[in-house]
Amino acid sequence: MATLYVVDVTGQGQARIPSVPECLFCRIVSGGVPASRVLESPRTLSFRDISPQAPTHVLVIPKVHYPDLAALAAADGSLLTELINQAAEVARAEGISSSGYRVVFNTGADAGQAVPHVHAHVLGGRALSWPPG
Ligand code: 5GP
Ligand code: ZN
Repeated sequence: MATLYVVDVTGQGQARIPSVPECLFCRIVSGGVPASRVLESPRTLSFRDISPQAPTHVLVIPKVHYPDLAALAAADGSLLTELINQAAEVARAEGISSSGYRVVFNTGADAGQAVPHVHAHVLGGRALSWPPG
C-alpha cells in the first residue's frame, strides 16, 4: 500500500496528512468519489453508507488515513475522540439519539472489514438484534 505524505501549511500542528491514492475513503475525502455527506469537521467526515443496513446508516471517518481503530487510537487519541463525538452528533442530527443506535468499528477479516480506512458505522432507526451475525 503506497502512502503519499502531503505537507500541511496551515500551521495547525498537523505536520503531515497521510493519504492513500487507491483508498476509496481517501478518495471520498478528496472529492474524487462522490458521497452523500451528512456532517463534516476539519478532521472528520460523515457520509451515508452506499448499502444501508438500517434507516440510518452513516459512516464516520477521519480525513487522514489510518487502516483501523487500533492504529488510530495508537496514533491520535484526540482524533478518535473527535470521531466518536461526530458519531453522537450524527445520531442527534438523524433524530435517533433517544431511540438508540449502534456504533461499530469492523476490524480485520473476521469482522468483515472491507475498506481499510478506519470508519465508524452509525446504525439506527430500527431495533437492532444482538448478538450480531
Ligand atoms: P466495512 O465492511 O469495511 O466495515 O464497511 C465498509 C462500508 O462501506 C460498507 O458498509 C459498504 O456498504 C460501504 N461502502 C462501500 N463502498 C462505498 C462507496 O463507494 N460509497 C459509500 N458511501 N459507501 C461505500
Ligand atoms: Zn484512506
